[in-house]
Amino acid sequence: MVVLKGAEVSARIREEVQGLLGELEGRIPQLAIVRIGENPEDLSYERGAVKKMENFGLRVKCCGFPADIQEEEFLRQFRSINEDPDIDGILLLRPLPPQISSRAVEAEMVPEKDLDGISPINIAKVFAGDETGFAPCTPEAVVEVLKQNQIPITGKRVVIVGRSMVVGKPLSMLMLKENATVTVCHTRTRNLKEACREGEILVAAAGRAKMLNQEYVGKEAVVIDVGINVDDSGKLCGDVDFADIQDRAAMATPVPGGVGAVTTAVLAKHLVQAALMRKRGQE
Ligand code: NAP
Repeated sequence: MVVLKGAEVSARIREEVQGLLGELEGRIPQLAIVRIGENPEDLSYERGAVKKMENFGLRVKCCGFPADIQEEEFLRQFRSINEDPDIDGILLLRPLPPQISSRAVEAEMVPEKDLDGISPINIAKVFAGDETGFAPCTPEAVVEVLKQNQIPITGKRVVIVGRSMVVGKPLSMLMLKENATVTVCHTRTRNLKEACREGEILVAAAGRAKMLNQEYVGKEAVVIDVGINVDDSGKLCGDVDFADIQDRAAMATPVPGGVGAVTTAVLAKHLVQAALMRKRGQE
């Protein structure tokens, strides 16, 4: 089984980003990471994103807010980030605390700065197959992993486990745009094993540690593991039992070291694209 390493895909996206940066004539784009509270997962994601942006030669401003901030006050502060001309793109860490409506914040987000495709306009564009908006970074990272490894998508049977708005649903649309035949599975899917084995490309995005073993994998399938979980011994792992599928799959992404590394690289690419779109709009 060939291991599809995220670092290699990320390095290629980095080269692309360097090329785009040249067009900005010295201006370094800035990302705002918006976080409410001090959830350890958010802090760890934030650290990873800051490191990646700096490695790509980009600027980051971390905007942390207290866990008990009220919606009205948060929206007021969020609007000022939206309007800040020195901020080119925004990443909002989620889930938000219960007192703040996700819908309200998503509606507030300026689509041109919405690098992770959460605003209604960007979501609509993903579903319409319109590439002028930003798709959510993780589904786009899955497509990047396939394309950068020269794995054809057109005409392939793609099975996705998970139907969230963060991964499964938008990914199904991106795959359709790439001319795949897509099946989306979830907790009510009957005979999940059989459905998964149909996939020439199987994408796991269920958030269940090592749930998919070789019984779920078609012979010579390409397996993309989006899951980030902690196993019984406290170690980071994906949704796929990586060791168990070695003799069954043709290729697979590991966790850690797979899709996650590509997701932040896609975020960096979106940031530079957002800055370029603004520059072109001002010319
Ligand atoms: P989520 O909102 O919890 O959605 C999980 C989806 O999987 C749901 O649609 C659920 O079905 C389905 N599912 C759960 N258990 C299942 C089962 N036993 N059989 C069939 N379907 C099942 O999670 P998410 O936000 O999409 O994230 C999924 C995973 O990806 C998590 O591990 C998350 O940490 C990871 N993730 C990784 C990245 C990255 O950059 N690599 C980014 C985002 C998320 P129902 O709809 O029927 O409940």
